[in-house]
Amino acid sequence: MNRRSLLLSLPAALGCAGLAAHAQAKLKIVASFSILADFVREVAGDAAEVTALVGPDQDAHSFEPAPSDARALSGADVVVLNGLGFEGWLDRLVRSSGFKGKRIVATDGVKTRRSAATGGGRGGGHNHSHGGTDPHVWQDPGRVLTMVRNIASGLAAADVGRASIYARNGDAYLARLAELDGWISGQIATVPAGRRKIITSHDAFGYFEDRYGVDFRAPRGVNMEAEPSAADLARLIREIRREKIKIVFMENISDPRMMEQLARESGAQMGGRLYSDALSRADGPAPTYLAMMRYNVARLRDAMIAE
Ligand code: ZN
Repeated sequence: MNRRSLLLSLPAALGCAGLAAHAQAKLKIVASFSILADFVREVAGDAAEVTALVGPDQDAHSFEPAPSDARALSGADVVVLNGLGFEGWLDRLVRSSGFKGKRIVATDGVKTRRSAATGGGRGGGHNHSHGGTDPHVWQDPGRVLTMVRNIASGLAAADVGRASIYARNGDAYLARLAELDGWISGQIATVPAGRRKIITSHDAFGYFEDRYGVDFRAPRGVNMEAEPSAADLARLIREIRREKIKIVFMENISDPRMMEQLARESGAQMGGRLYSDALSRADGPAPTYLAMMRYNVARLRDAMIAE
């Protein structure tokens, strides 16, 4: 081929490549937060480009969307959200972005729990939260099965040509979730019943408590409402001492200072960081949901059996 014919054939070759790419274009999916994006990646595999609006180590409760988030949504085919009021900022963002794609609510049909009114432990007193539906469904792998089924059927409806891929990937992930559930039950079973008590920053672990029988208490409620009062903190400190709880945890999404104060004033130690509402970055200990749950449970078990 001489130089001239090479140049002439180039645009034609590029044109063909463009058409081929279009025929198998990846689905563009935006998930509201990092844990949900991980579920979506498991189900979609290589068939989609998945981005999360609220990234690793970020707090979805207090998230403030940026113009780049509206741009990500405007170009997306599908948006996947948790629902149950977790992403209070999302409806407005979807409207302002001009998003015209399909919407999947991952928690549709999940049996939810009401959160107790909170404000620093049990025993009455002033409450900051009036309770409400707890959005942290992902802390129970049993309920995550439903979330993953919703994602798989939603993607299949949005992208019929790849329905069998989503079904196959979804089933493989469901099996790994069932395996995780069995492993967690086995870990918790090694902790004497009277010691299954954990103190953490906010009420993110109610579904874990429901499934595995571990008692979680926190100074802040399910939606990270107002700061607890001094009286609320004092009550929690008395509980930690009375029940001989040795370790308190901070969370990756929240300021550790309140928990450090609780530890200092109750005589407990800091147990490190739990991943409550967000994954870690790729180089951290919880870059996927499965890794996050195993990491959290190992830390929780160590804390509960500590002498
Ligand atoms: Zn939360």
